[in-house]
Amino acid sequence: MRKKIVAGNWKMFKTNSEAVRLVQSLRTRVEKSPVKKNTVIVCPPYTALEKVSGILQGSGIQVGAQNLFWEEEGAYTGEISAKMIKSTGAKWVIIGHSERRRYFKEDENLIHRKIQIALKNKLKVIFCVGETLEEREENLTKDIVGNQVEWGLKDFTHQQLNQVVIAYEPVWAIGTGKTATPEQAQEVHAFIRDILNALFDDTVGRNMTILYGGSVKPQNAEGLFQQPDIDGGLIGGACLKADSFHRIIKAAEKVY
Ligand code: PEP
Repeated sequence: MRKKIVAGNWKMFKTNSEAVRLVQSLRTRVEKSPVKKNTVIVCPPYTALEKVSGILQGSGIQVGAQNLFWEEEGAYTGEISAKMIKSTGAKWVIIGHSERRRYFKEDENLIHRKIQIALKNKLKVIFCVGETLEEREENLTKDIVGNQVEWGLKDFTHQQLNQVVIAYEPVWAIGTGKTATPEQAQEVHAFIRDILNALFDDTVGRNMTILYGGSVKPQNAEGLFQQPDIDGGLIGGACLKADSFHRIIKAAEKVY
């Protein structure tokens, strides 16, 4: 059975006091209506990681960072290492998000190095892939996503791959209100499994948790989660309010 996950990416939102309010409210909701089957992860900004981890202790909700640096430590002003993230209590890190690829010019090689350092430090990885609108319109979705998966995960062992989940996030659906239809998402998720089978072997394709991300909301979550190759969601905008994030968590509990 593949692990099913609902993860929230807060991006550059929430001061520490706002973060505290959001996770306290989420914790209260989850205590009233417990998460029995799935994994829930919140990914606040670095500044709130330790506080959020403290508040969520014992709640079953896990914590992740949104990025890390590719070296262990050193003279890299402004950067954050895997060890620093671990020291906050976080267990996960998002790598390869399209906003990092776009605004910070992160390429496949850099993303691969980031995944390597995360795994070396025993952080689990949410590895994001996805095509832009132009790429989709030019019929390049499979080339782009296939290449991202291949380079990002190149040379990892089965044991390392067990610590990675993939998030398919079509760039044109992120923050735009335009969700991929369940069928469009399903098609790419199934393709990602095929690529993993070709690169490694069919246990990898079968066992890999693949999340969908891109304007997931309480209203469309169930339809997406019902697809056979969709194992949950990476949620942006809708995770910034406890109520909507919790409704998505409940949709996953209902479907899986
Ligand atoms: C994201 O940033 O990973 C994301 C999916 O954002 P949104 O849900 O707002 O489209």
